[in-house]
Amino acid sequence: MRDDPPPLDSALRAIGDPWSFLIQQEAFFGVRRFGDFQRNLNIAKNTLTDRLSMLVEFGLLERKKLPDRSDIHEYRLTPRGLDTYQYALSLMRWGDDWVAGKDGPPVILSHKTCGRVLRPKAICSACKREIHAEDVQINLGNIAETIRNDTASVRVSSRPELYTAGRPTSVSRTLAVIGDRWGFFVLWLALAGISKFEHFHSVLGIARTTLTARLNHFVERGVLDRLEYQSRPPRYEYRLSESGKALCPVLLTLHDWGLRGLHKRAAKTSILHRSCGQPLHVEIVCMACGHPPLPKDVEVKQVHLVAPRARQSRPSKTVSKKGASRTKA
Ligand SMILES: [Zn+2]
Ligand SMILES: [Zn+2]
Repeated sequence: MRDDPPPLDSALRAIGDPWSFLIQQEAFFGVRRFGDFQRNLNIAKNTLTDRLSMLVEFGLLERKKLPDRSDIHEYRLTPRGLDTYQYALSLMRWGDDWVAGKDGPPVILSHKTCGRVLRPKAICSACKREIHAEDVQINLGNIAETIRNDTASVRVSSRPELYTAGRPTSVSRTLAVIGDRWGFFVLWLALAGISKFEHFHSVLGIARTTLTARLNHFVERGVLDRLEYQSRPPRYEYRLSESGKALCPVLLTLHDWGLRGLHKRAAKTSILHRSCGQPLHVEIVCMACGHPPLPKDVEVKQVHLVAPRARQSRPSKTVSKKGASRTKA
């Protein structure tokens, strides 16, 4: 019998493609219709059609005809879709902290429950302490066998800048940094303590060029540090930088969401919170009042309305080209 997929893998199949989650985010902003999704995200029609049906298929959105207009459909978040809110907040927090630039966060949320600006914080649900990457112990188990078998859902993001061509948000900027499913897995393995190219390669079972491109992209974006550990021939290891460690809540909320979607037999986390010794489940709370914010208790204020101009130039290949020549680890 085939092993159950790791929770992270299961989550990534549903929302691992950045477009899928950006559509989800629009739904959290109250968007319901095809044309509005398309305009706000600046997304190609066929891509939008494809991702909307995926989200419906995976049970995150439901599609309904308007009662009086049988030609118009609306998409609404299901309970399973609403349950991705913690993940959305952790993506936002990282983008606010690390890629907002001089203009500051493009979206500000206010927590109606306490009346303060909502700054999300990730805590351990057992001991209520804030979660730091150093305190997280991940048992990778049989991840190698279970993820390498599934190549059907692999999507290649050759132009991550497209994700930020629509409504400016920290969520879209964070997703543009992480990239696709393989990007998530590379970060997950790095969080679990894997650092050498060969080790990443043997676990993920992907093409060396694909892995090289992801590693170089993360080094370029400052999420991974590349350190030489041998000089002749040069060999490197890759470790999470400060901003990379700060992605820990993003990975954990996604992992937990995947876990909640699996049936009971598989629904046991293999992650440990070293600080308290308990199995780690993440909770996202409002920094000011300590309560977990629900979408209905949050007010959205779009501060910057203008999207950076979508680039007209050819697809950027700088990352993979540099990667091919640089990494021979
Ligand atoms: Zn704990
Ligand atoms: Zn609050």
